[in-house]
Amino acid sequence: MRLIFLGPPGAGKGSLAEMMRERLKLTHVSSGNLLRDAVRDETKLGARVQDYMKRGELVPDPLVTQMILNRIPADSLNGDGFVLDGFPRTQSQAEELDRELARRGTAVDRVVYFETSPEIIVHRLAGRRVCQSCGMNYHEQNHPPAKEGKCDRCPGPVIQREDDKPETIVKRQGVYRRQTEPLLDYYRQKGILRVVNGDLAVETLYQQLRSLFRQEKLLRRPLDG
Ligand code: AMP
Repeated sequence: MRLIFLGPPGAGKGSLAEMMRERLKLTHVSSGNLLRDAVRDETKLGARVQDYMKRGELVPDPLVTQMILNRIPADSLNGDGFVLDGFPRTQSQAEELDRELARRGTAVDRVVYFETSPEIIVHRLAGRRVCQSCGMNYHEQNHPPAKEGKCDRCPGPVIQREDDKPETIVKRQGVYRRQTEPLLDYYRQKGILRVVNGDLAVETLYQQLRSLFRQEKLLRRPLDG
């Protein structure tokens, strides 16, 4: 199953993608996590993208597109598949992805759009904390790590992302509306867009999507959890 998760920052795409990785063995490819890793590790790519990220702007298409295409599992035609989280975010990224998958003889099965209320987004982003080493997401109130400032899953530090500060949150929502929301029409026209309520808890969303994908014959019963 080859999925794209589409929605504004704070819609819950990353948390659900992680759950799908654990339970359905999909490869979770998060463009934001990969770019943050590049900045943290001070790679050449990291040096080129860090100012855009700090400002809450999209990084130039060629930099992110190549990075993601390299991460999509080569055996995604027959293997367990993947979920792309945070990519594509522009028309050009979407078209490049389609071309690359077509070259490999495959295509995206479904695009899941997380329709989410503005108040929920602000609450989630303002309280969001993230492990700097493994990218695991936490929330200051709803889901704090067991030991303050330390990841439950690895020894990494749990911090607030620089772009989760209030001014940058507002800017990123604007960038999303202008540059990414138009992709909804692109995928709606292909007939592969499905809409979920991003305000719901991650477990509820997982159950809903699992039922939907079973109905649509994308998931077979004995294989999933
Ligand atoms: P995210 O964690 O998905 O919110 O991404 C954090 C930041 O990484 C964004 O604000 C952008 O600066 C950059 N970024 C992530 N994915 C993309 C993408 N597909 N295209 C351009 N920039 C991206």
